[in-house]
Amino acid sequence: MALLARVAVIGAGVAGLAAARELHREGHRVVVLEKRHSLGGTWLYNSRVDSDPLSLDPARAVVGTSLYHSLRTNLPRQIMGFLDYPFAKRIHGDQRTFPGHEEVLWFLNEFADEFQLRELIRFCTEVVRAERAEGRNDEWVVESRSRGSESAKVVREVYDAVVVCNGHYTEPHLVEVPGIEKWRGYQIHSHNYRIPKPFTGQVVVLIGFGPSAFDISRDVATVAKEVHIATRAPNVTVGKLDNHKNIWQHEMIEFVDEDGKVVFQDGSSVHADTIFYCTGYKYHFPFIETNGIVTIDDNRVGPLYKHVFPPRLAPWLSFIGMPKQGTPFMTAELQSKWLAHVLSGKALLPTKEEMMSDIEKYYHHMEETGVPKRFTHVLPPNEIEYMNWLLAQVGMPPLKEWTGRMYKECAMLAKAKRDGYKDQWDDDYWDAVIASQVDSIIF
Ligand code: FAD
Repeated sequence: MALLARVAVIGAGVAGLAAARELHREGHRVVVLEKRHSLGGTWLYNSRVDSDPLSLDPARAVVGTSLYHSLRTNLPRQIMGFLDYPFAKRIHGDQRTFPGHEEVLWFLNEFADEFQLRELIRFCTEVVRAERAEGRNDEWVVESRSRGSESAKVVREVYDAVVVCNGHYTEPHLVEVPGIEKWRGYQIHSHNYRIPKPFTGQVVVLIGFGPSAFDISRDVATVAKEVHIATRAPNVTVGKLDNHKNIWQHEMIEFVDEDGKVVFQDGSSVHADTIFYCTGYKYHFPFIETNGIVTIDDNRVGPLYKHVFPPRLAPWLSFIGMPKQGTPFMTAELQSKWLAHVLSGKALLPTKEEMMSDIEKYYHHMEETGVPKRFTHVLPPNEIEYMNWLLAQVGMPPLKEWTGRMYKECAMLAKAKRDGYKDQWDDDYWDAVIASQVDSIIF
């Protein structure tokens, strides 16, 4: 195994930056290929949206972020930084514990500057294909093209390893709505939502119950006539929300008709102008060719050992940032440390057979406990266990107890759909908890 590898990192979002830093620290030769003009991925806000509001057209120009203008983080900043580079408040910045998205972008730029990552990144460079060199596992051919010019020449380069960090929040997942083919109203996925203004005076039906559905329903309700949230989540309280003058909650949509009527499973109905899908995203790696070794099935990307290595292609192909929920920055950082150590031979992977058997055991456990396949990469409730496992691989001590407790508290508040919880966060309490455990903060 090469001790120092030539590595192509695809994407300069959180995952790509974390990977670049760890690989570079470990002495590997890193090139980050990023199709946008700047770093930050999701956190690089763009007021433009896809040409097609449902993002169904495979030929559309995909806008590389799903941020809406009003977005604030859904995690407190204490668990949004990196382990050795916290997301601290700055004097003239957004002082809130759950800051606006601009503050996160600022933080990522500081991070890149602090570790001189910018010079590793080739901006406006889109990877169009990455595949193994014929007959070799440890040589990858990466084809990229300068963005902005369709006629730009494809550049072919050879690397020892490819690290996929292209994110998974730009390819919308839609749900079936019976009768939708006859419905004549407007339809949009949250990927293409930026500001509430276009929905002024409208009756909007919004499908979903995650963080985006929560935020967008409140945002749109500031200008819309009515907002109706439809969800398949169990045990929701049906009816008007007490603390809002124009938001209702319903069971899932039963059907819609050509007159614009939307009928819910709870028996109620409205005439709507817009159906808004806050229904999540799909994994999508259009540029990776593995001849069927890595597949996507019902949002399960597999087989991946610990969400990172496909056993048959390890360690030369890896995926950083696949997990959903949990603490994405720290998770990507720890996965990257593990990857960097594996590539330099400091950490050893099990055999292919052992990795496969571990993956099968995980799938089997999901089945036995009734967890649907599409949740394969959802970390909770095991997010801390997973991060501690990664830490152990690189010889670092486990996370401080407060990290897991803070995450769980925040997840619980978000799940309870309590308005204003971000501004009611008890900073003094958490500062004291963190201070009491400070002696064992790890680097
Ligand atoms: P991305 O940020 O998507 O970065 C991927 C990068 O790869 C992009 O820069 C893209 O341009 C590039 N790329 C893609 N394809 C190619 C290609 N073919 N060639 C070259 N470059 C390519 N996380 C939190 O921790 N806290 C939050 O509060 C939070 N809120 C969120 C709110 C929303 C609406 C969304 C969508 C996500 C949120 N997340 C949040 C999750 C967030 O996505 C992660 O924090 C993190 O940004 C993921 O980083 P990533 O690098 O994996 O992906």
